[in-house]
Amino acid sequence: MNSHDAETARERDVVVVGGGICGLTTALALEQFGATPTVYEAASEYRPVGAGILLQTNALLVFDRLGVADRVRAAGVPLDRVSIRSPNGRPLVGFDLDDVERSEFEYGAVAIHRAALQRVLLDALDADVQTGKACVRVTDPEQPTVAFADGTRVCPDVVVGADGIDSAVRDTVAPDAETRTLPAAVYRTVADVSLPADHATRGSEVWSHGAYTGGAPVDDDRFYWFGVLPERVAPSQGAEATLRALRASFTDAPEPIPRVLDAADPGDVFATDLRDLPSLPRWHRGRVALAGDAAHAMLPFAGQGAAQAVEDAVSLAHGLATGDDHREAFEAYVDERQSRADAVRAESRALGRLGTTQSGVVSTARNAAARLLPGRVVRRFRRERAAGTSLPPM
Ligand SMILES: Cc1cc2nc3c(=O)[nH]c(=O)nc-3n(C[C@H](O)[C@H](O)[C@H](O)COP(=O)(O)OP(=O)(O)OC[C@H]3O[C@@H](n4cnc5c(N)ncnc54)[C@H](O)[C@@H]3O)c2cc1C
Repeated sequence: MNSHDAETARERDVVVVGGGICGLTTALALEQFGATPTVYEAASEYRPVGAGILLQTNALLVFDRLGVADRVRAAGVPLDRVSIRSPNGRPLVGFDLDDVERSEFEYGAVAIHRAALQRVLLDALDADVQTGKACVRVTDPEQPTVAFADGTRVCPDVVVGADGIDSAVRDTVAPDAETRTLPAAVYRTVADVSLPADHATRGSEVWSHGAYTGGAPVDDDRFYWFGVLPERVAPSQGAEATLRALRASFTDAPEPIPRVLDAADPGDVFATDLRDLPSLPRWHRGRVALAGDAAHAMLPFAGQGAAQAVEDAVSLAHGLATGDDHREAFEAYVDERQSRADAVRAESRALGRLGTTQSGVVSTARNAAARLLPGRVVRRFRRERAAGTSLPPM
């Protein structure tokens, strides 16, 4: 239906631009609420590469609502403990996931390879997912036309822009939004390392002076590592030199980090700038709405970007698939989601500033404060984060 007249929720033709975590979850939720979306993904194919990701309880509650949490859990590693440690390995803050997340919400955290998560979502979907379709622009938000780099166009009833931090769809909704960059670089890899049983279900972060590192096992034999440094190392000397520089930078980090870097393949180490978005003045215009990183890209320090993206997905899909007025669906979505996502983004930015501080005084004070944080405060925070998950009724 392209007339844009008197549509009903079930007939609504929804195009999702971007087939990442947010786009695939939006499509899955739309399907489960009875709609038939189409996903257009820029990449020419889904390939089993990339890094790991930590999915916190709120993400798993969304996946539970969509019936895929058990598959996500089985494809990754359910963690027992996550801890923040000082450079000498001493615990600063520990999260025993049984004591709040699992006992009260059924789900702790899962570390998973991104490609494995993608596979679970793709396998659960019936939707048409078209790859090699890079959106270049969306014209006329009231009667949207999505134009692709290959010269083709589609004219759906509604467009969801789930095309990430550099969203092309965002130009139609919030054209002035510009990403912000923190002066630091993050490196990631997944390497073949199996851990002794007592470490095989633990994730950890290490806060040291001028660097921030950590990771978690993503299956029995592979470990996901990330490390943040003040600037790119050996930027023009190739992958081997970069890995050598990373090994040198993290040689004193607690195990298994040096072991993971020893085992890493230079070709599998990804460098990314640390960027986020400011709070957008709007998340929708006409028949076009934004979700996930396209709406609220955040720094990775709270480990919540994907979790917030899947909360968006289920909230937006519920309104679009069950309400006849897309404006009401968008407004309800923004009411439910924008302040929460913006708050998490601000928290991640504050943690990022602390995590990447170059000041020895600040990093010492930060670690001391983390060690002194009362357990009940940390538990209340974790409980509130999980209890606040946006979960519409099925
Ligand atoms: C270093 C790092 C570590 C992180 N760790 C965590 C973590 O542990 N836990 C967590 O919850 N979050 C984490 N995040 C955040 C998380 O990765 C993102 O928030 C999440 O991937 C957002 O999903 P998305 O689908 O909105 O965007 P993306 O993952 O960016 O997906 C966008 C998709 O759209 C496609 N696309 C882009 N442009 C176009 C176009 N023009 N047309 C069509 N398709 C397009 C892309 O190819 C991609 O498939 C981390 C981020 C970083 C940088």
